[in-house]
Amino acid sequence: MAELRPLVAGNWKMNGLLADGPDRARDLLTLVERKGAPHAEILLFPPATLLAPVAEILRSSAIGLGAQDCHSAETGAHTGDISAAMLAEIGCSHVILGHSERRRDHGETSAQVAAKLAAAQGQGLTAIVCLGETLEERDAGRTLAVVETQLAESAPAGAMPGRLVIAYEPVWAIGTGRTATEEQVAEVHGHLRGLLAARGAEFATVRLLYGGSVNAGNAENLMAVANVDGALVGGASLKIEDFWTIAGSCH
Ligand code: PEP
Repeated sequence: MAELRPLVAGNWKMNGLLADGPDRARDLLTLVERKGAPHAEILLFPPATLLAPVAEILRSSAIGLGAQDCHSAETGAHTGDISAAMLAEIGCSHVILGHSERRRDHGETSAQVAAKLAAAQGQGLTAIVCLGETLEERDAGRTLAVVETQLAESAPAGAMPGRLVIAYEPVWAIGTGRTATEEQVAEVHGHLRGLLAARGAEFATVRLLYGGSVNAGNAENLMAVANVDGALVGGASLKIEDFWTIAGSCH
């Protein structure tokens, strides 16, 4: 299979105010200008309140912008939600869907994620769809079955492969400082690659990110694992030097 360009996505989650968020984006741009753009594609996912100012900062730069969620409907009575069209209008090219924190905090189901995916892709957005098992599921030996079901239900075969990225994020590794071992990552990514390839050549090249306590110290080894095409980074993306190091670890 042809080499896929790696992708490093920084998910700021619910962190950042106008006082510090835009500066964080500016600092990253300064690093890119000083040191040259890394091989990896870089994306930032600030909270919704920072999308407009960060879009302004990143405009015409090599760094892309995404949101952390969207609604499946185009418009309507959905208080507090944001549509894919609104995100596209403000300058987003990407959106994260089905993050385990949304599945946990908002009871989001894979069927809802699939509906959001269709809406996002319909507006021209590329979606990073997140999958991953809980510790109980891993201990019960159900990891591969769980991610297989989540893939089938959250990013079904009718989705557009050209606007799809999959992130494997074991729930027990997110924000815990506990990373999956290289063997665990290799096993799950190999399984996901096989499932995607079985859908045909276009799906075979969907990029597979690993997420879960990736940091400047462990990125090099994790990014070298077979079928890992980049990282979805939470905590470490708030430290721009560390995020830069992680991006540089993706060859
Ligand atoms: C995430 O938010 O997707 C994530 C992987 O977080 P962290 O890197 O902090 O574990």
